[in-house]
Amino acid sequence: MQATQATIATPGRPNEDYLAAGPDWAFVLDGATAPSGVDSGCAHDVPWLVRRLGGELERRLAASDGTVADVLADAIRATCAAHGDTCDLHNPSSPSATAALLRLRGYDLEYLALADSPIVLDVAGETRPIIDDRIERLPSYTLEAVRDLRNQPGGFWVASTKPEAAYEAVHGVVPAADVRRAVLLTDGASRYVERFGLGDWADLLDLVEQVGPAELLRHVRAAEEAETSEERRRRRGKPHDDATAVFLRF
Ligand SMILES: [Zn+2]
Repeated sequence: MQATQATIATPGRPNEDYLAAGPDWAFVLDGATAPSGVDSGCAHDVPWLVRRLGGELERRLAASDGTVADVLADAIRATCAAHGDTCDLHNPSSPSATAALLRLRGYDLEYLALADSPIVLDVAGETRPIIDDRIERLPSYTLEAVRDLRNQPGGFWVASTKPEAAYEAVHGVVPAADVRRAVLLTDGASRYVERFGLGDWADLLDLVEQVGPAELLRHVRAAEEAETSEERRRRRGKPHDDATAVFLRF
């Protein structure tokens, strides 16, 4: 497995994305920016959460025999233990992150996507996006509604204070021998397809393979700069976002 990667922060802000790759695994995390004025019950910021969770994931991906969902659940549990004494982990607005993971395990390639960080696989020449889009289908997007639907059945799931969220992710396996290439994306990078329509998932895979993850992120930044205020009003979400892409060749 050969990994190439790039990550860029929202201009003028700390990067709340995180990534790591090992000999037979890779993941990206995207910390959810807290809405201003909301009490999270947590003394830490979002970069603390993604870095802590990322470190716990790396250790377990290197050493654990469990499934990727087991590994993520364990990493969430360990992250909770790191601030259970100082912070209110029952607060529904506690810092959270998305997760997208791939790992070779025996003859399988395991995948897991939790919240809006997609994975795109090339399986025997067929482009297969792995997408958890529950956050796109909420009945309401008020602060209260999103808080109440977070990590609840019928709502959406994120990596925060509930280890069981890992098992609610979109996860499964494909035969490793069938996978030639894959890309893991945070939504700041997947907006190449989802927000700007600069191509479909197959086009994105081809672009990243040909010119690399950093060039994909440059294309996204250029599209953000070119967006008119009218387009910005029409499309939900931030004008700029942290963006991360990890390309894998097998
Ligand atoms: Zn905390």
